Amino acid sequence: MSRRAAAPTEPAPPAGAPGPRAPASAAQRALQRLGLTDDSALALHLPLRYEDLTRVTPLGQARDGDEALVEGVVLSCEVLTRPRRQLVAVVQADDGVRLTLRFFTFYPTHRQRLAVGARVRVHGELRGGWAGWSMVHPRLLAPDAALPTGLTPVYPTTAGLPQAYLRAAIQRALARLAWDETVPSAALAELPGGHARAWTLQQALRLLHQPPPDVERDALQQRTHPAWRRLAAEELLAQQLAQWQARQQRAAQRAPVLRAAPDGLPARLQAVLPFALTGAQRRVVADIAADLARAHPMHRLLQGDVGSGKTVVAALAAAVAIDAGWQCALMAPTEILAEQHFGNLVQWLEPLLQPLGRSVAWLTGAQPRAQRQAMLQAIAQGQAALVVGTHAVIQQQVVFQRLGLAIVDEQHRFGVEQRLALRGKAGADAPGLEPHLLMMSATPIPRTLAMTAFGDVDVSTLDELPPGRTPVVTKLLADTRRAQVIERIRAQVAQGRQVYWVCPLVEESEALDLRAATATHAELAAALHGVLDAHGRPVQVGLLHARLPTADKKAVMAAFARGELAVLVATTVIEVGVDVPNATLMVVEHAERFGLSQLHQLRGRVGRGSLAAACVLLYSPGQAGRLGEAARERLRAMVETHDGFEIARRDLAIRGPGEFLGSRQSGLPMLRFADLQRDADLIEWAQRWAPWMWAHAPTQAQRHVQRWLGAKLDYLKA
Ligand code: ADP
Ligand code: MG
Repeated sequence: MSRRAAAPTEPAPPAGAPGPRAPASAAQRALQRLGLTDDSALALHLPLRYEDLTRVTPLGQARDGDEALVEGVVLSCEVLTRPRRQLVAVVQADDGVRLTLRFFTFYPTHRQRLAVGARVRVHGELRGGWAGWSMVHPRLLAPDAALPTGLTPVYPTTAGLPQAYLRAAIQRALARLAWDETVPSAALAELPGGHARAWTLQQALRLLHQPPPDVERDALQQRTHPAWRRLAAEELLAQQLAQWQARQQRAAQRAPVLRAAPDGLPARLQAVLPFALTGAQRRVVADIAADLARAHPMHRLLQGDVGSGKTVVAALAAAVAIDAGWQCALMAPTEILAEQHFGNLVQWLEPLLQPLGRSVAWLTGAQPRAQRQAMLQAIAQGQAALVVGTHAVIQQQVVFQRLGLAIVDEQHRFGVEQRLALRGKAGADAPGLEPHLLMMSATPIPRTLAMTAFGDVDVSTLDELPPGRTPVVTKLLADTRRAQVIERIRAQVAQGRQVYWVCPLVEESEALDLRAATATHAELAAALHGVLDAHGRPVQVGLLHARLPTADKKAVMAAFARGELAVLVATTVIEVGVDVPNATLMVVEHAERFGLSQLHQLRGRVGRGSLAAACVLLYSPGQAGRLGEAARERLRAMVETHDGFEIARRDLAIRGPGEFLGSRQSGLPMLRFADLQRDADLIEWAQRWAPWMWAHAPTQAQRHVQRWLGAKLDYLKA
């Protein structure tokens, strides 16, 4: 089919743009690229910010950094080639003050409009300096047009789509749009705060696109204005409606009923554990057992701070599934972590499984072919009661006999597709059934985020650490005090303690970082030469990095776990989950480069036993002599709190939800209008009204979801 033939069915371009038979202009194509193909999409394309073009700024009273509108006459205009090629024009503003305009990219039209003697009107950010006021890349506006009376919206746009074109297209769409209300009036009447209920959706949209002159400017810019709140409420309601629906659909799916005998594997496992479960662990195990005993798939997130003891909870859940005669799969994001789980689970479960003729299997991408074949066979025939591994566990060739429960550790490290693949794996013996799913995360998810992005998931929280832990003391030191830190390491290892030294790994310069880690390893080995540990053995320093072959990584990690290496220099491959209770000191070099939850994870590697432990964050102030604002906030948070939930809350505030969750992981449309902190009260409102709406106004509910989430819906069902 030719492109022409397809044209009539394509969405109509905004009115005023060339008709459907004319070839699409660059601006129209850009609109398509942004998905702005119909009136609804255009109406929901909301301003990033607003510019005040209502009056000319007197330069005499301006401050550095102000956004200013300036009118005047061009005194000179020339192209300079040094220090960089640029077009420089000097304007005499109407109040007599001079302003220099700089353009590093410019076109012939710039020179025409900035001809000497021409009148100009420009808008941009003022910079003050010894040479007077200047603006870089100001916008050139028509000098003789009347000034607008209200704020001017600035829209997110893309190459080839000028603001003016976009603005006009949106205005036309808005004029044509006739949106009825989909939110029931009973729900509107209860909208919390901000008088958002007094607005219809259309009024709210009009105000945001065309703010009247007397609008509350701060509230508009900060998005606390009732019109913004109204949009946030609509969006959050759509999200809750969709999640409620997903939950209903899951309730319609069937899963095996997994119930352990009173004296079965879970009871026997608890009896042989070297410790008693904490209250939180007992409560969470009970939550999970109750879910597993239902005929519908569990979809539960177990969140607990680092060191809160999630592994044993996973083992007990696995024991329930196995006791009920089903298989269990446990997937971890890295080989080291999977290996460690395997070690623990073999130790705990294998003695109990052996008499039953069953075993724990191990699967990774790196294992020898013959071993892998044997494992695959044991899994297919059901002899492997528990399968532990990396993402290799969900590969196509892995066929379970009857998989009842899938456990994903550090779930935020996996993509949605990977989690989905696990769910489709119940096996030949379980036609029509889905396995139960338990996800574990050491990055606690703040409540507001759990209620939105994870609205379809039940959440259990381990909010209690095993007894006898002493909090890790955190110190922030400039890297000029490295020698002092090394001295401290000597003291620790001489007492038989172990130390981690983490070097950052930045992907773009892996080779460079590897060199840095290698140098640090040599430095520490030299500094500790001749030091004896508590058993009188010379201390050894190990090196662990991402480029190391898997077998070597394992060997290094195992040697550290056995206490043969006193110090482990590592790139962040040790980030998650590793458990060596004798390690008491964690040094993080270039701590300013790490994310907050990553730092919290790293700190969680020490203080896992009853020994006093410390974490030293070495930072490098950098060339400018000072750290960036975000880096400073992250480091401050680390010193100020140990509470994983507080850390997560601050991390969310610093990064925003999109980055917090990681792009791959959420599988949910990120919120466009609502903000989880600012609009937390609206989340609760939406959660309350979503089920009501499905029950009492299902058609409206359907239309509401379609209007706000549209094409993203399939993704949401993940
Ligand atoms: P995480 O939640 O970070 O995965 P782990 O499961 O690795 O934590 O547990 C951390 C350490 O605490 C392990 O050494 C584990 O054996 C130990 N542990 C777990 N539960 C208890 C408990 N109830 N009492 C004492 N120690 C426990
Ligand atoms: Mg863990």
